[in-house]
Amino acid sequence: MPNSCQSSSTDTDVDAVVIGAGFSGLYMLHRLRNTMGLRARVFETGGGVGGTWYWNRYPGARSDSDSYIYGFTFDEQLWQQWEWSERYPEQHEIRAYLEHVAERYDLDHDITFDTTVRGAAFDEDSDTWTVTTDTGETVTARYLITGVGALSASNTPKFPGLDAFRGATYHTGQWPHEKVDFTGQRVGVIGTGASAVQAVPLIAREAEDLTVLQRTANYVIPANNGPVPDEVRQARKADYAGIRERIQNSTFGFELTTLEKGAAESTQEEVDAVLQPRWDEGGFGIWLGSYVDMFFVDDANAKVRHFLHDKIREKIDDPQTAERLIPKGYPFGCKRNPLDSGYYETFNLPHVHLVDVKSNPIAEITPAGVKLVDGTEYEFDAIVYATGFDAMTGPLNRIDIRGRGGRLLRDKWADGPRTYLGLMSAGYPNLFTITGPQSPSVLSNMPVSIEQHVDYIAGIIDHLRDRGATTIEPTAEAEDAWVAQNQQLAEATLFPTADTWYMGANIPGKPRVFLPNLSFVGPYRAKCDRIAENDYEGFTISGAREGATA
Ligand SMILES: Cc1cc2nc3c(=O)[nH]c(=O)nc-3n(C[C@H](O)[C@H](O)[C@H](O)COP(=O)(O)OP(=O)(O)OC[C@H]3O[C@@H](n4cnc5c(N)ncnc54)[C@H](O)[C@@H]3O)c2cc1C
Repeated sequence: MPNSCQSSSTDTDVDAVVIGAGFSGLYMLHRLRNTMGLRARVFETGGGVGGTWYWNRYPGARSDSDSYIYGFTFDEQLWQQWEWSERYPEQHEIRAYLEHVAERYDLDHDITFDTTVRGAAFDEDSDTWTVTTDTGETVTARYLITGVGALSASNTPKFPGLDAFRGATYHTGQWPHEKVDFTGQRVGVIGTGASAVQAVPLIAREAEDLTVLQRTANYVIPANNGPVPDEVRQARKADYAGIRERIQNSTFGFELTTLEKGAAESTQEEVDAVLQPRWDEGGFGIWLGSYVDMFFVDDANAKVRHFLHDKIREKIDDPQTAERLIPKGYPFGCKRNPLDSGYYETFNLPHVHLVDVKSNPIAEITPAGVKLVDGTEYEFDAIVYATGFDAMTGPLNRIDIRGRGGRLLRDKWADGPRTYLGLMSAGYPNLFTITGPQSPSVLSNMPVSIEQHVDYIAGIIDHLRDRGATTIEPTAEAEDAWVAQNQQLAEATLFPTADTWYMGANIPGKPRVFLPNLSFVGPYRAKCDRIAENDYEGFTISGAREGATA
């Protein structure tokens, strides 16, 4: 493989700065440096590669995507040679995989760890970005590519008295590197999203007493984790090209297809019969591989909910606890669907308690624990914040990104993100956002979307260089149309009716707009490709200099 570090420009420190060393940053660096011969620097806040899988080391952390598709497919040998131990890989295994990727493609030496990018300013005279870090480094680059992650800005609600607690506190998204031992402790877990659903059963095994403070109950589907039978693994190994083709052209980046007949036109018995094998199989089959009309029509959704409510009642011994665990007031599927490895059963244990903090909210964190509005106080030795992330826009808005006229990106996005394809924003030339807001991103199996964005960005840079152009940015019209279409697609569905992080609803003051894009993985890819074939329709390419390179 070529590993040229030749420069294509003389007026910059490097050709590209990449922010983040997770799946996105690693593959982007590989493409830029190893296949395009560009000079690139990667900056990463963490002390190693992995992104999500570097930070989220809480007990039970694992992917909910099946392992055979939760990885890169750009290199068949890499895909064939890596063996996953289970259906859903655990955090340490995914981190080991990404460390292997970094080693295999010799990436580490262009990554600067323990370094956060604080600011990036576009210079309109030189058409370059000047990037500044918290360690005082300044680097100029033609291209600025963010691989900052959609779920990397962890969020702790600003409860009064947050620092008052005398015991230990943890956030699932910033878990310590050494093992946390809860043996003999009274533990409080705040939040019941996907991370809590994974962590609670394992914390319960150690803790003397565990209290889960729940604001919104979640629909949790069995994961059905375990080793993958040999014959299945062999069949998949033999079908690399088919799998790659299917996930790239799928709806959500999985090998799942939705049914032609809707739930609305089916009886409850028919719906139950369709959902039961998907429940037994485990995984995202009920969510992303059953009835498409449940995302659009509440009657259809109600039939799926009915099936799931019965399942929860079957699993929980105490009827009152079961009722509290049954989600209410929002449709199934419009909130990230967590997978269950013993979550519901945990609430049958005598030392595990479920407290509803919707009707009786958390008033403050006290030196001893958590006090609710009605004055009830729970005493803990440790509090686990499983309170999620400032999703999608959070990691970008935490950086001072200044485009043309010195305009801050977060000011431009004050009422919600404004992008074209979820990839670029007008007024910010040569700034690319891998799996940015208004792209399929978190509504997909993300490695598939990451590879598509990285390859597309590489294609754009090649195109600029071929034309001797220095900048690309969306036109205001193309951006306006994309923003409007993003909202229209969402408004046609039930997604906006649920208070979710897809809608920014978990962060006080965050604009209520639908953050990902509902074009779906395959059609979105096709649209991007059509745009490229039409000479990058909707983009302005400029700075062309006869015979020059970008
Ligand atoms: C608990 C959990 C489970 C998940 N499970 C799944 C799953 O089953 N399937 C799925 O498809 N996706 C899942 N995801 C989403 C997951 O984030 C993506 O699959 C994928 O790991 C994203 O890779 P990335 O490189 O784009 O971002 P990340 O992995 O988030 O990496 C971004 C990196 O950028 C760094 N960074 C951010 N800002 C800066 C800055 N200013 N300066 C320097 N560095 C910065 C961060 O430190 C981070 O390391 C999960 C996410 C979480 C949190």
